[in-house]
Amino acid sequence: MEHSGYSHEVQPGRTSQFLRAYREFLRRPGGRLALTASECPSCPGCRYDDVAVVRDALEHITGELPAPVRTELRRLLEGLDAEFRRRTLHDPDPSHWVDRSGSPYPWWHRRRYVGR
Ligand SMILES: [Zn+2]
Repeated sequence: MEHSGYSHEVQPGRTSQFLRAYREFLRRPGGRLALTASECPSCPGCRYDDVAVVRDALEHITGELPAPVRTELRRLLEGLDAEFRRRTLHDPDPSHWVDRSGSPYPWWHRRRYVGR
């Protein structure tokens, strides 16, 4: 019961899974990296094929964690985010910066994707 109140995404196993997925994206060889959109973004099995959605989950988790652990995860993410910023390119098309309702996406979605 110690995790009651946490969403399923905040379980320790999920957190390390998402961190691993983020690190694996950054570990790819080559210089610049382009994001890959998920083939079926609404499906729980496939949505995390998009590393920006993985980063969404990590952001969500960070917000739910108790303060000391939150600080630790924040610090971890700062390092990974710096690498992500360094290796991906800004998407210059403003129509990609907002969702269907016009709400702006977080910065990690506003990067270049494969094929767009
Ligand atoms: Zn699917």
